[in-house]
Amino acid sequence: MDVSRKTINELLSGYDKKKLKIATICSHTALQIFHGARQEGIKTIGLCTEKRKKVYEAFPLGCPDEFIIVDDLRNIPADELADQNAILIPHGSLVEYTGDKLNSLRVPMLGNRESLMWEKDRVKMFKWLTEAGIQVPATIDPDKIDRPCVVKHAGAKGGRGYRVVSTPEEFHEHFEGMDVTVQEYLIGVRAYPHYFYSPLTKDGYRAGEGRVELTGIDRRFESNIDEAYRTEKAGLSFTPSFTVVGNELLVLRESLLEDVMEMGKNIVETADKLFGGVPGPFCLETVVDENLQFFAFEISARIVAGTNIYPQGSPYTAYQWEEPMSMGRRIAREIKLAAKAGKMSKIIY
Ligand code: AMP
Repeated sequence: MDVSRKTINELLSGYDKKKLKIATICSHTALQIFHGARQEGIKTIGLCTEKRKKVYEAFPLGCPDEFIIVDDLRNIPADELADQNAILIPHGSLVEYTGDKLNSLRVPMLGNRESLMWEKDRVKMFKWLTEAGIQVPATIDPDKIDRPCVVKHAGAKGGRGYRVVSTPEEFHEHFEGMDVTVQEYLIGVRAYPHYFYSPLTKDGYRAGEGRVELTGIDRRFESNIDEAYRTEKAGLSFTPSFTVVGNELLVLRESLLEDVMEMGKNIVETADKLFGGVPGPFCLETVVDENLQFFAFEISARIVAGTNIYPQGSPYTAYQWEEPMSMGRRIAREIKLAAKAGKMSKIIY
């Protein structure tokens, strides 16, 4: 059964605010989450398999203070975490592993768990984007494909199994009977801005009750399309694929920041209206076309792996904080701020 806000608030009210801990699954962005918490003086718990533990131990400053070893990362020991005053940080792997069980986890989680349901469902996600006034690629009926389109498997993130098709015949050859979405292929430069929405902070770029911060921008490296020029140069032909392998830093021309900040603000205010907000980190996946127009095809309502590029701060946090500010540290800072102000329920559900 889904856990209510009331239940989470009751759990939170029983927490010892001086002994808060930050917990997450050892995967995705865990190193910077633990590192950032350590910088802010908050103890951490890593949910980990025995096999993976040594990987985290290899990075002492990103290693959790304590491991909870589990056989299967799909099973989050929510009660044990709640007993330890822990706040769970959802990241891409946690969302993927827990699936529909995420809503029933009886442990306080950073952000609004409702927003994770909106990012997951492509119809809802597009409603969120379009109501925020953001341009999106056309969704196309498979039998009406008249231009290059990217075909995406239901729920699949990280690009695995995607393929570009240009005709209905090509679509049916590869995807007959499958649960997929056909999206217009956006031509331009990919830019994935990372944001942090703080309802607790009243200065800066105002959004909703507080402010939206731009923490960084990345571009992903996807196999095999992002090395296509080498493959072609070597005289080989290949079918482009989009499996995410890594991320690289991107800095946009400064005149585009106005659009980037407005998109962030509009996403925040639309989330407030549609489902009670998106406090904490989120990211838009966009393509900027030759007319410098942004088109967004995805939202992540949580920390994204692109933030792993800047554990010591980014070209954007440098102008907001005197100290090196990663997304992991920003999260820990917000939790401290909320605990001090007695406003944890504003940023946790
Ligand atoms: P996603 O699973 O939506 O994050 O997509 C994975 C990757 O596929 C993205 O990082 C893009 O490189 C590519 N992609 C997804 N949708 C589109 C689109 N509409 N046009 C062009 N490329 C796309």
